[in-house]
Amino acid sequence: MTRTLTYLFIGFFILASCKDTSPETVSGTLINPEVKDTVLEVQPEPEPAYIIDTLEQKLIDAGLVNVQDSIPGILIDLRYSTTNNFMKQDVYGHLNRAYLQPDVAEDLKKCLEFLKGKDSSLTLLIFDAVRPRSVQQIMWDILDMPVNEKTKFVSNPKNGSVHNYGAAVDITLATNDGVPLDMGADYDDIRLIAYPRHEKAYLDSGMLSLEQLENRKLLRETMRAGGFSGIQTEWWHFNRYSRDVCKTRYTIVE
Ligand SMILES: [Zn+2]
Repeated sequence: MTRTLTYLFIGFFILASCKDTSPETVSGTLINPEVKDTVLEVQPEPEPAYIIDTLEQKLIDAGLVNVQDSIPGILIDLRYSTTNNFMKQDVYGHLNRAYLQPDVAEDLKKCLEFLKGKDSSLTLLIFDAVRPRSVQQIMWDILDMPVNEKTKFVSNPKNGSVHNYGAAVDITLATNDGVPLDMGADYDDIRLIAYPRHEKAYLDSGMLSLEQLENRKLLRETMRAGGFSGIQTEWWHFNRYSRDVCKTRYTIVE
């Protein structure tokens, strides 16, 4: 009898011991949020500090504004800061932000508001904004061709351009996730199909589709809403003011 009691006692002791390692306790330890956070949380690498180089500092010192600070939702693809351009050379280096005169940026904001009112799935995508004359000179010098040929690509830096004043943009329409709308010719395409002047002829020949033409028309309507006007030879280029008016309002960014 005493032995039976002893076995019962030992059995009870074993059961009681097993309870100490019950699933509840084990799982309680594993899913403890503090422990989990300690074990699994991976600290992200800190973003490297953005460096403003000499060129960008020059734009800031000239009183220009970073367009993306002024116009939330606008997109930038500074093509001259890549090799995806007609020169196949990066002439902007570190710079990948678009800068404009503050009042020009405010007017461009009106364009985007107009566009959003028409179609909220679309936005504006900037290829180029202010282009300092020193950069335009680099572009001019890269082109190894007669002067009358060069002017098809870049206006003569001697004359100054509306881009030099920070009052012109090269721009297109894009979806909010950055896909440019089809304009029937790429940015900086020097073929006549890029000329607004020849759109009707290209439409009639079937080389420009009605959809491509409608996209260009929507871009022009959008830009007019902020007071910008296009030119007859590049579907992407818009001036806020003429060169003569720019001379009275602003100083060339050298
Ligand atoms: Zn332009």
